[in-house]
Amino acid sequence: MLKTLRLPALQLFINNEWIDADNQETFDVLAPAEGRHIAQVSAASAADVDRAVRAAHHAFTEGPWSMLTGAERGRLLWRLADLIEENAEELAQLESTDVGRPINETLMAEVPVAAETFRHFAGWADKITGETFSLPPVFGDNRLSYTLRQPLGVIGAITPWNAPTMTTSWKIAPALAAGNTVVLKPATDAPLTALRLAELALEAGFPPGVLNVVPGRGQIAGDALVEHPLVTKISFTGSTAVGRGIGEKAGVLLKKVDLELGGKSPQMIWPDADLDKAAISAAASFTYNQGQTCASTARIYIHRDVFDEMSKRIVAIIESIRIGQPLDTDTTMGSLINEKQLQSVLSHIASARSEGAELLTGGERIDRDGFFIQPTVFTGNADSLTIAREEIFGPVGLLVPFDDDDEVLKAANATEYGLTAVLWTNDSKRINRFTRALEAGVVWVNAWGPPHPAVPWIGIKASGIGEELGLAGLHANTQLKTVHVVSA
Ligand code: NAD
Repeated sequence: MLKTLRLPALQLFINNEWIDADNQETFDVLAPAEGRHIAQVSAASAADVDRAVRAAHHAFTEGPWSMLTGAERGRLLWRLADLIEENAEELAQLESTDVGRPINETLMAEVPVAAETFRHFAGWADKITGETFSLPPVFGDNRLSYTLRQPLGVIGAITPWNAPTMTTSWKIAPALAAGNTVVLKPATDAPLTALRLAELALEAGFPPGVLNVVPGRGQIAGDALVEHPLVTKISFTGSTAVGRGIGEKAGVLLKKVDLELGGKSPQMIWPDADLDKAAISAAASFTYNQGQTCASTARIYIHRDVFDEMSKRIVAIIESIRIGQPLDTDTTMGSLINEKQLQSVLSHIASARSEGAELLTGGERIDRDGFFIQPTVFTGNADSLTIAREEIFGPVGLLVPFDDDDEVLKAANATEYGLTAVLWTNDSKRINRFTRALEAGVVWVNAWGPPHPAVPWIGIKASGIGEELGLAGLHANTQLKTVHVVSA
């Protein structure tokens, strides 16, 4: 039984205090599935962002945070993971309400992954080491050469609306484990769980200035964060278009930057695979979170020998999806995030129709409050369809037949993006060939599964620069320094 929804503090969280924006500005937060506003959140100005960055910088250079050992930082992160678990139902309700996605997804996957991420990086906090080198003497004197891995300073984190609890944990946990401080700008479309996480961080006992949250508009608060001279690194997850702009600014300012961006990922199914599981996975990959998932593999290539059979199975699964209110535990698909996103998905559907794709099911807006749409399946020639190239970020899948491995490998890589790819086959020779040749940061074989914090998450090509999660993601939050100590 779900509890009544409790909203978190709706202000800026700076230096462990909740404050209004300096110009008193706010923005409205929508519950997409109800199509109505449920909260007004303070909108940070550039001056507010400056205050948050200065608090984070003070905590990093002079505050108690700078004195803590790795083990002490780890204990705080572990405590935050405990609090996330203790408040899992509330966080899941908040995310489901804020994003419009089913409670089963947020309670079973998103919030547990967030807790696990803090726990994973809590374990790393006292194990950050450099290397030592055995080198010849210098000018006749002995030397000891080694590297240090040091924190970067203030990290500016900018997150998207589609999976806010999880993506926030991916940014905060490794950054804090490595000894940095953070200023987080959550997405205006779904800021509520980031604010709740700030409340929990306060309860966990993080010192002032270590984590600051500045909700606000991308072009005001986001921009101010990117450009702030005391921010050493920007860690951004969001669209490729915005990511390019941030990458350009970071390049000019010579700041470190991680960009986790959009995708248009392929899924390939051969007749030797477990076709029951493949059909479920294919359907889930473009309907989970209403298809608003960067890892969605909505370009589904099916070997011609099983194409008709698999198309029928996938369509049957899609037609059994239960569309409804996010907090209803029977719901398997909720609402898109807003009217703009709904219109964007509808325009992709219209383009597929006009470009000659065959509609197998769905295709229409659902007539009710909110931004509901039928899960939709097309088949057609990927070469001539815009929906085979552009990220839709909605529940629209494209089924494409293929005849041989060379053809499907070429088709899979024929995209500007490179985030994920899924293979369904038990042929080890094919698996070895494809896992190497696919231009994707993350490849799954015989599943479309959730990320794990121990394993890096990587986008290549237009899907991003840098790594999150795993040891690589931890190291991305550190600065390597070389030291030579010479003594007679
Ligand atoms: P978006 O790019 O519109 O916004 C992302 C964040 O950037 C928001 O907080 C926004 O306010 C902020 N922003 C906007 N303009 C800015 C600017 N000029 N300067 C600084 N910040 C600015 O993306 P979205 O619509 O929130 O999210 C959907 C996108 O995110 C999709 O493309 C999806 O594929 C991608 N995504 C990628 C991953 C990944 O791991 N690769 C994960 C989740 C989502």
